[in-house]
Amino acid sequence: MGKILLKDIILNGQASDVLVADGIIAKIAPSGSLCSGADEAEVMDCEGKTAFPGLVNMHTHAGMAMMRGVGEDIGFHQWLDRIWEIEKNIDEEYVYHATKVACLEMIKTGTTTFNDQYWYMPMAYKAASEMGLRSVLSYVICDRNDPLESERQKVQCQEMYEASKSWAGTAMFVLSVHAIYSVSEPMILWARDFARANGLKLHVHLSETEKEVEDCKAEHGGMSPVEYLDSLGVLGPDVIAAHTLWLSDRDVEILGKRGVTCVHNVNSNLKLASGYKFRYNELRDAGANVCLGTDGCGSSNNLDMLETMKTSAMIQKAWREDSSAMPLGELIAIATTNPAKALGLNLGRLEEGALADIIIIDTDNYHFMSPGSFEANLVYSAHSDCVDSVICNGRFVMKNRVVPGEKEILTHARRHLDRIL
Ligand SMILES: [Zn+2]
Repeated sequence: MGKILLKDIILNGQASDVLVADGIIAKIAPSGSLCSGADEAEVMDCEGKTAFPGLVNMHTHAGMAMMRGVGEDIGFHQWLDRIWEIEKNIDEEYVYHATKVACLEMIKTGTTTFNDQYWYMPMAYKAASEMGLRSVLSYVICDRNDPLESERQKVQCQEMYEASKSWAGTAMFVLSVHAIYSVSEPMILWARDFARANGLKLHVHLSETEKEVEDCKAEHGGMSPVEYLDSLGVLGPDVIAAHTLWLSDRDVEILGKRGVTCVHNVNSNLKLASGYKFRYNELRDAGANVCLGTDGCGSSNNLDMLETMKTSAMIQKAWREDSSAMPLGELIAIATTNPAKALGLNLGRLEEGALADIIIIDTDNYHFMSPGSFEANLVYSAHSDCVDSVICNGRFVMKNRVVPGEKEILTHARRHLDRIL
């Protein structure tokens, strides 16, 4: 693996030279002092640019990247029926090309790691690997109470898990339980045991809508979805729960006590009118690990984490009528270091020894023309086109806004657009 030398870049507020080698940040030194240790490195002059940790999208469905605009102005349950109808027409090839498009967008908008949940997962692995992104990829359990389907999925899950053992180090195999309304109780228990036996993270949609909560209470003796999963012994620090939007005080207490990672997907929730009162303060104070996600392009229409960060903070401030809600430092943490904690990876911080997932921000424009905080300008003023270059796992995946093969990715993907109509 090659070396990269970032010369004269602002890093943690200091003009620095940064040496990347063997996939990690090998050395950080004051600007101008590092040239001797960087033989044969690919050198980038970064004057006027600032380094920032690669963003982590903790809940998405990359294979939906070509489903933008197919379910507009309809509520969650009608939308989900429409998506499931559309998904009858997709195949491996479709998912491969859609995931390439998703990766292209993520790179261009500064995301270096994504936690994915979609069908035909080996195709997502192929696409993410080719694009050079760090990926967390799910086998998705979704048996819809069909015992034959349960058995088929058990076998397929085991096969895919075995195959994942030969994956490159930038991809992590995890298990998904789609949701409590789409997976039978025996399969939830099987997934819990399989994940625990193999040390895998468990990714689940949880308490996304008020209807999900009401249906669960009716079906499971008054228990909420959180109480129900807890009664099955599912919840723990290895669980990544997407949405957790409709929570009682008791739910918050359980999620905190179990150390669950709760992923807020503000744009998807707003657009499908699922709700907006994500209980950030309460979850944080209870001990849950809060992260952010975009959800899939079928509902959020894009994978832009800077936009997600801005909207998340603005909505918190608005519904709480408290401008200090989700303050800047915490907002940065929930898109960088909190995901690192959830995934057990040494990323989200730019320091020696950390994985070299770095986005290089061009500050030579009006968005940053202020003596104010760089972080504030990045989240609240700039747009993702300020992301000039991206390094993931020690390799450039975008340099000066150019992603290798971009035109071909779009040309190939376009051929599959009419598949879902
Ligand atoms: Zn989702």
